[in-house]
Amino acid sequence: MLHEGDRVALLVAPSQAYLDAVWSLLARGVVPIPLDPRLTTTERERILTPLDPTVVVTTDDGLAAVTTPDRGLPRARPMHCTSGTTGVPKGVWSGVLDDADAAALVAEERDLWGFGPDDVNLVLSPLYHSAPLRFALGTALAGGRVVLPGRFDPALVTAAIETERPTSMFCVPTHLQRLFAHWDDVGVPDLGCFRLVAHAGAPCPEPVKRRLVELFPDGATWEFYGSTEGQFTACRSEEWLGRPGTVGRARPGRVITTAADGTVWCAVPPHARFVYYGDPERTASAWRETPDGPAFTVGDLGRLDDDGYLYLDGRREDLVISGGVNVYPVEVEQVLGTHPGVVDVAVFGVDDATWGQRVCAAVVGTASAAELDAFAREHLAPPKRPKTWTHLDELPRTLTGKVRRDVLAGRVGGPST
Ligand code: ATP
Repeated sequence: MLHEGDRVALLVAPSQAYLDAVWSLLARGVVPIPLDPRLTTTERERILTPLDPTVVVTTDDGLAAVTTPDRGLPRARPMHCTSGTTGVPKGVWSGVLDDADAAALVAEERDLWGFGPDDVNLVLSPLYHSAPLRFALGTALAGGRVVLPGRFDPALVTAAIETERPTSMFCVPTHLQRLFAHWDDVGVPDLGCFRLVAHAGAPCPEPVKRRLVELFPDGATWEFYGSTEGQFTACRSEEWLGRPGTVGRARPGRVITTAADGTVWCAVPPHARFVYYGDPERTASAWRETPDGPAFTVGDLGRLDDDGYLYLDGRREDLVISGGVNVYPVEVEQVLGTHPGVVDVAVFGVDDATWGQRVCAAVVGTASAAELDAFAREHLAPPKRPKTWTHLDELPRTLTGKVRRDVLAGRVGGPST
């Protein structure tokens, strides 16, 4: 028997039954903890031990056992874990069980994207990440339908577009890249049904953005920037093309500021506040008081232009220190990404006997190492210029679309002398 405030870890593949279970737990004030069912035993233990769940669900039968027909408004907020891109995944939780706040969070998602009862939302990212689950819950609250293809397969997704005629789709840039490559082979399906296509989670290469705008109906495509901790901005793709690289302006109810060191801070209303579960020190260092109310940072670095558009420059924890100089991979990637022969690029550091770390780049595209080297000399200061170039067909990425710099470093690896 579950009680208000209990925590239920869900390690089951996303499905309609999964979404029903999440909704019924929230309606009872129970906190679901959605997790990747493919985690190894070691990973599970590392994540679950500090979160101390009341129940761990690992099968569809288990899902049915925690699901009730109760379909009231959410009275809890799901506790999501961050992706662990910069270390061990952190459990993010509202910290309070306030009915009004929990319901306000889902209603905000519904209202921002204008979900209504006629919406059919194709959610391509797994529900154990916060943004897709928020999208799905916002749609469900509006009385719309959620379509979950289960796993990402470009052929399956194309079939779902043809048969379900979705009005909206949530994805990460990698999904778009893979869909476009598939459509190059089999043809583009009729995309006229879409009124909203939103992507987030990682920088979107410019050619992908242009193709997106070209293929989908006018005004339908959006990027937003956020994290497990909360959503910061929203940006129409047309705005992006006018200011390449921006992630847009603060979404309603949020105030974004950047500190002198570039750290991005986001002030949020009370229903969007959170703590890192069981980690008061980390929580304290993530929050600070500002004239706009309490604001938090997830360690991203960026700058605002005069019209309030935000540009991301990297992450504080995602740093290569080469010869004692701090190099932010995102900054170097943004420059290299403007070379016409580069489709996708990732910059990372590997141990180096002389430099401590040396800057390396993995590139998808036709530009040769010599061409890239010349380009880097023209556009980047010496410490930021990659010393090693690797060509790949595709960059290794997480399911949330983030480049696996650790995998790239392992591949290129090895200290150079
Ligand atoms: P951890 O905090 O455990 O290292 P994580 O921060 O990667 O994990 P998420 O919450 O899934 O986990 O990712 C949020 C991060 O993704 C943001 O802080 C930002 O760096 C990046 N991000 C999100 N949206 C965008 C975007 N539109 N463009 C560029 N980067 C983005």
